[in-house]
Amino acid sequence: MIDRKDFKKHVPQVIDWIQNYFDQLEDLPVKSKVQPKDIYKQIPDSMPIQAESLEDMLKDLEEIILPGITHWQHPNFHAYFPANSSVESLYAEFITSAIGAQCMIWDTSPAAAELEERMMEWLRQTMGIPANFEGVIQDTASTASLVAILTAREVATDFQSNEEGVPNNLRIYCSSETHSSIEKGVVIAGIGRKNLKKISVDEKMAMVPAELEKQILEDIQTGYKPTCVIAATGTTGTVAVDPIKDIAAICKKYEVWLHVDAAYAGSALLLPEYHWMIEGIEDADSFVFNPHKWLFTNFDCTVYFVKDVEVLLKTFEILPEYLKTRTRGLVNDYRDWGVPLGRRFRALKLWFMMRGFGLEGIQERLRSHLSLNQYFAEEIRKSNSFELMLEPFLNFTCFRYTGQPGMSEKELNEANEKLLDILNSQGKVFVSHTKLKGAYVYRMVIGQTYINQSHVDRSLEALYEAKSLYEA
Ligand code: PLP
Repeated sequence: MIDRKDFKKHVPQVIDWIQNYFDQLEDLPVKSKVQPKDIYKQIPDSMPIQAESLEDMLKDLEEIILPGITHWQHPNFHAYFPANSSVESLYAEFITSAIGAQCMIWDTSPAAAELEERMMEWLRQTMGIPANFEGVIQDTASTASLVAILTAREVATDFQSNEEGVPNNLRIYCSSETHSSIEKGVVIAGIGRKNLKKISVDEKMAMVPAELEKQILEDIQTGYKPTCVIAATGTTGTVAVDPIKDIAAICKKYEVWLHVDAAYAGSALLLPEYHWMIEGIEDADSFVFNPHKWLFTNFDCTVYFVKDVEVLLKTFEILPEYLKTRTRGLVNDYRDWGVPLGRRFRALKLWFMMRGFGLEGIQERLRSHLSLNQYFAEEIRKSNSFELMLEPFLNFTCFRYTGQPGMSEKELNEANEKLLDILNSQGKVFVSHTKLKGAYVYRMVIGQTYINQSHVDRSLEALYEAKSLYEA
């Protein structure tokens, strides 16, 4: 065991490892190439009896663990949505780990609670979220949306679900494109999967408000209680934006909670020119976005804004004797603002990131991602081998391989799947896919903190190389 007074002695080894990792990152295969159980088999089947040295651990980290890592901070990681980071955020994370505070209530670290309160205000002002919303940090968007669904459930049942159990006539609505975390939240909340109604989408993959209203009316007539609508600002498959203003008007009319899931695209609200995406937000009840996706803050860090904090607290508050404090009611005890009791000090990394970048620096990075995406999309538009499947939006391009003349849709899908497998197995980039109206399409996201045009060129090269390999 290393004594704490010797902490500094070993730091260079760890820091050198990290710096080397960053220096060699671009040469590592973006997507891990290991086979199932490759890593597991190399790890002893029980813990060591005698203490081992840090040197041995770092050696195994390099030899055993690193090959099994998919490099999310690699500039050519374009899959899913990014979980980007920054040096500033990383520094804060070191310090957070060193302090090791468990920030469940104000008393257990007043600075953590008050910094969190301020960080939520900084983001709220900049992102165009109305001043009557209050923010709290959650671990993930899945948890934040669960919190929204649970709060909506309590509001709809006059807080009786918490007391008596959940009635079986509550209805939740989202579009067919909404992230699976909503379905999970509905299941966990005891509302039942059959009570999640998926509303159809238009040609831009955005929810059709008229269809939502039709479903709500039908449900009211058949004895259901419309409880919560989840609108997406940037769906996972194709970054579609649901029309919040029209949806909010419907929610207001039928007194239904409106939760907005902007997990990914929410970061674009740091740019005033994207505030249109949440037009009508003043009539929503809650909103979530993930700085741990596209806002240079390492995983995990989710921001949840809610308009009526009182109903949030009423949903989650439980006050055992051992958590009673003399400051209760005067301060924010964030344990009452969500599911877990224990909370990490996540506000510090937001603070470091926002101060280290400045708003101008954040905006410069985001805009650079937007323009790199335009560049990539134009290359695809000009190509004879690939085609855009949707207009590029934000830093997201949806495209596919055009295949050989005369291929059926099924053959084209198979060809695209095979080509993607070749592309990702080459290790130079990592791109993921989705299905768009039955078509197998590629999702290219350009959101890595330190990416520049040479990386995008490298991705284009890798794409053409994979195409040649596929056609050979
Ligand atoms: N909502 C949307 C729109 C997403 O794209 C995602 C993940 O990609 C989530 C929610 C879930 O995010 P988390 O991993 O923070 O739970």
